[in-house]
Amino acid sequence: QRCLALIKSTKFLNAYITVTEETALKQAEESEERYKRGQPLGILDGIPIAVKDNFNTAGIETTCASNMLKGYISPYNATVVQKLLDQGAVLLGKTNLDEFAMGSGSTDGVFGPVRNPWSYSKQYKEKSVPKSHSEDKESDWVISGGSSGGSAAAVSSFTCFAALGSDTGGSTRNPAAHCGVVGLKPTYGLISRHGLIPLVNSMDVPGILTRCVDDAAVLLGLLAGHDPKDSTTIQDDFKPFELPNLTDVSKLSIGIPKEYHAPGLSSEILALWSKAADLFKNAGAKVVEVSLPHTRYSIVCYHVLCTAEVASNMARFDGLEYGHRSDVKDSTESMYAATRREGFNDVVRGRILSGNYFLLKQNYEKYFVKAQKVRRLIANDFAKVFRSGVDILLTPTTLSDAAPYMEFIQEDNRTRSAQDDILTQAANMAGLPAINVPTALSERGLPVGLQFIGRSFQEKQLLTVAKWFE
Ligand code: GLN
Repeated sequence: QRCLALIKSTKFLNAYITVTEETALKQAEESEERYKRGQPLGILDGIPIAVKDNFNTAGIETTCASNMLKGYISPYNATVVQKLLDQGAVLLGKTNLDEFAMGSGSTDGVFGPVRNPWSYSKQYKEKSVPKSHSEDKESDWVISGGSSGGSAAAVSSFTCFAALGSDTGGSTRNPAAHCGVVGLKPTYGLISRHGLIPLVNSMDVPGILTRCVDDAAVLLGLLAGHDPKDSTTIQDDFKPFELPNLTDVSKLSIGIPKEYHAPGLSSEILALWSKAADLFKNAGAKVVEVSLPHTRYSIVCYHVLCTAEVASNMARFDGLEYGHRSDVKDSTESMYAATRREGFNDVVRGRILSGNYFLLKQNYEKYFVKAQKVRRLIANDFAKVFRSGVDILLTPTTLSDAAPYMEFIQEDNRTRSAQDDILTQAANMAGLPAINVPTALSERGLPVGLQFIGRSFQEKQLLTVAKWFE
């Protein structure tokens, strides 16, 4: 009830698209009953959790923040949603995002932008100076980051204890950094994507947003493992773990990738990053500079691979099977075209067009196949560094703290999104696990985070180090 009341009083954040008040209260009552009767409880019994609105939920609308899916109700639960419910979680609602998770600000969804809860914090209000575009402090609120901005804002504003996001190029870690929460992108294939409406199938992973690293480990433990409905998941069951309290980091080798000194990295974040490296060094860990030379091609390569998969994924939205159907009835083709024009925003349409261009017979080798090869080189760079004995990579998560909304939307959409993914994207290319750990407040009083990237399927090591640092 307190979470639901908080959701109401923070409605202006626009973190939720759907609030499932009735079913949530019913689930909570059932939990209480189980508790009173002394029945066995699930790991999450009675715990309020929110889910990004690109995971299918039986009986509850799943919109992907798009006109295309407004009113769409899936007949089944995504595997991760089912697993939460099986453990007794109370589902509070579906959170806001960029349309079809394409974006990095949570500003491009059809339900409007998500406001970062920190915009209303004492720290930000005291320290920030109104930007030149406006003297009005009210319009100076900052973005939540994205595309899982609703989930990050929901956790950050204490309306839920944890939330599911998705991460294709940074969409869990980026908003986690901007909203000051933990954001875990697990190894590709560790958690089922069944029921997660795809963006880039070969890079998508469900993400976990929590208040602390321990909570992320708990959720990972119950979400991870083989799913017969997702052939890309690991074959084995996953053994949940409790995180040890690391006391000795002297056997750890921390890599600092020099390419992550990216153009546009704020001096504040750079300083924080070196301070964190020193912290490890002073505690006895080995801290080494490493090189991931192909990382610099990651963003252009992502553009080709992402749009190609988008072109193919979005083909299912034709007005026949799912969601929106246009009233234009002159011919089947014109109905298709009108449905897609009315259903998708310009970001989605732009990506469909680019993707189809890259997949044209005469372009396929030159762009798509080439990008796949570069992707392999990017992944090989990581493999080489980990083979050399480095355990974990330490990098910033974002280039700067969250931008004011008015500033963010002025920039060109495509360059902006690409810029924002620069520090998170390569981990998706390589399928590696990575986590944002909230680290400090910027001079403007906004959260900034650092990212740890680990070896494939070595979540336990990654989270243990993250917990030590936290
Ligand atoms: N910003 C990237 C994009 O727009 C990544 C989004 C994501 O991780 N879902 O494609």
